[in-house]
Amino acid sequence: MTDCIFCKIAAGEIPATKVLETDDVVVFRDLNPQAPTHLLAIPRRHIATINDLQDDDAGLVGKLYLAARQVAADEGIADSGYRTVMNCREGAGQTVFHIHLHILGGRPMAWPPG
Ligand code: 5GP
Ligand code: ZN
Repeated sequence: MTDCIFCKIAAGEIPATKVLETDDVVVFRDLNPQAPTHLLAIPRRHIATINDLQDDDAGLVGKLYLAARQVAADEGIADSGYRTVMNCREGAGQTVFHIHLHILGGRPMAWPPG
């Protein structure tokens, strides 16, 4: 998608602090971090929301979580714990319409979320 900011980050057309890149997935630091560690794991391929996932995307979604596991270990938050969140549409707070898994850690997390 030509006007999608996360497609451009994945393609290297917009700068971001990337911490992991694979054939299918990119993980980078959130521009406006809400925790000492706040990373976003995205598929390289544009998918707007969870609602747009196809059955064939099961493996890709799994890869987002495997990337989260990897970067959590790299960031030293695997043992203390971390939150993974994927917001779906405006009512849940989604502002960038290219799916992304938030990975937040390094501070206590409250529940329920706001
Ligand atoms: P959402 O609200 O859609 O769940 O999360 C979007 C996230 O993307 C926000 O946490 C926001 O700070 C982050 N974000 C938006 N634009 C950029 C950008 O250009 N670069 C980076 N690194 N993060 C961004
Ligand atoms: Zn995109």
